[in-house]
Amino acid sequence: MDTAGFVDGEWIDSNDALDDVNPSDTSDVVGRFGCATADDARNAVVAARQSLAAWSQSTTQARSDLLARVSAELIARKEEIGELVSREAGKTRAEGMGEVVRAAQIFQFFSGEAVRYGGENLPSVRPGIGIQISRDAVGVVSIITPWNFPVAILAWKIAPALAFGNTVVVKPSEHTPAVAFELVRILQRHGAPRGVVNLVNGPGAVLGDALTTDVDAISFTGSVPTGRRLARAAAERMIRIQLEMGGKNPLVVLDDADLSVAVDCALNGSFFSAGQRCTASSRLIVQKGIHDAFVKALLARMKSMRIGNALDKGTDIGPVINQSQLDKIAGYLKIAADEGASVEGGRRLEASTPGFYLEPALLVGSHNGMRSAREEIFGPVASVIEVANYDEALDVANDTEFGLSSGICTTSLRSANHFRLNVRSGLTMINLPTAGLDYHVPFGGTKGSSYGPREQGGYAVDFYTTTKTAYVGY
Ligand code: ADP
Repeated sequence: MDTAGFVDGEWIDSNDALDDVNPSDTSDVVGRFGCATADDARNAVVAARQSLAAWSQSTTQARSDLLARVSAELIARKEEIGELVSREAGKTRAEGMGEVVRAAQIFQFFSGEAVRYGGENLPSVRPGIGIQISRDAVGVVSIITPWNFPVAILAWKIAPALAFGNTVVVKPSEHTPAVAFELVRILQRHGAPRGVVNLVNGPGAVLGDALTTDVDAISFTGSVPTGRRLARAAAERMIRIQLEMGGKNPLVVLDDADLSVAVDCALNGSFFSAGQRCTASSRLIVQKGIHDAFVKALLARMKSMRIGNALDKGTDIGPVINQSQLDKIAGYLKIAADEGASVEGGRRLEASTPGFYLEPALLVGSHNGMRSAREEIFGPVASVIEVANYDEALDVANDTEFGLSSGICTTSLRSANHFRLNVRSGLTMINLPTAGLDYHVPFGGTKGSSYGPREQGGYAVDFYTTTKTAYVGY
């Protein structure tokens, strides 16, 4: 029997289990985790419902203290838990530890928000009446997360949910459950009351229906098809939903860019974390005057990257997550070649241990109509699209169904400002990689990338609370 979840303060087991395999070394099984059943998920929702009244009426100090203790433990154990993240997600040590530190910072931030949030007092437009606007917890929140940031995404959903008095049922990615179990253990150890935090592990197809029934809100990060399915369920049940999905993020490089800044931005944004970030730069839109020098310099830098076991010292880029992702990327490289792009790199690599290693690939000579430039690949792959001028660059940048992040490399204040104001994305970066964010400001996109209120920072309160407007006669 393997642990399949945490429901109503008890660990639950299952005979049916999946191996959590290290993508850097397929002989390293990080853990074996059971698959919860739909009944387990329903029980988790019931437990979260039963604990809601007490938790939502607990003092804000109690909630703040819990989140602060979780933050402190994450910081104290950042190397150990960071290594776990690196093992199960194939991230370099710096990336794994950085993600744990980020999770700790988020818990710390919402520890403060728990005692800071509030409402408003306004005069009525009518005589003898005052108005008080207060914020209540939304209720039971289902939290469904992907494998690419196995602890940070959980943190940026669980921490605000708890800070504002909600109870949660968490379903981490079945590909990276180990750190999710660890986080729940930490929450339990530091006093999360029974039923306030529940976890069910396993495939979404089995658990999805139970996770969208009898809950008050759903916060999801993952693929567009799953997001759409959840949005339909939420509309049917008229519950609140927040979706963070794909991207096809453009990085524009103008002739007047500082070449080394542009190459750094592209290298980091397109290839670090093996391109498995929803904010990755997957379209490099390059003006013709700088195009050849940019491609040459970027290819040279790509060749100097060390791709290998994520835990080895000196590794810059780890493996992709699993065989099916590797196959999907290989399929897109073939599509790109068939569409007429020149595929530079993209070879399957061997490393010190058996894993899913792929050389970063640049699709030179792409145009924005190609499937490889329109569909999210989610790997270390970027299309290079040559454009004549800034106006064309902006048009190409906006010609996508997505709108999460974007960036521009330029030394022109006018172009930078125009781009910031006119690009259609929820995040935009000037002379910085399209990926790499702070935790105290809103995160989210436009168009097909996101749906519902923003996540993170002070704006998270809008999703995790509902306002009540009280009219008080004097
Ligand atoms: P990814 O390609 O990032 O794995 P998915 O959307 O498949 O994207 O997965 C993101 C999360 O959504 C995972 O936790 C997964 O188990 C879950 N999931 C997948 N299908 C469903 C579903 N039908 N209902 C609910 N959750 C699902």
